[in-house]
Amino acid sequence: MKCYVCATQGKDTDAVAVCIVCGMGLCMDHLVREEMDVWEGGYPFPAQKTGKKLPRILCPDCAGAYRK
Ligand SMILES: [Zn+2]
Ligand SMILES: [Zn+2]
Repeated sequence: MKCYVCATQGKDTDAVAVCIVCGMGLCMDHLVREEMDVWEGGYPFPAQKTGKKLPRILCPDCAGAYRK
């Protein structure tokens, strides 16, 4: 797979990761590694933070949307 961001810039770079949200291929320069808090859902509310962090790979677009 090729990096989608590089492809839009006319470059041809092999992807090393995939965005977990939209599934686009990403090279080392374009992947965004986010540490997301894990929230325990279910009953009763409010959901409780478990204190765990999960590393997730996102593309720049999805990372921007997540930070909103
Ligand atoms: Zn790239
Ligand atoms: Zn994405």
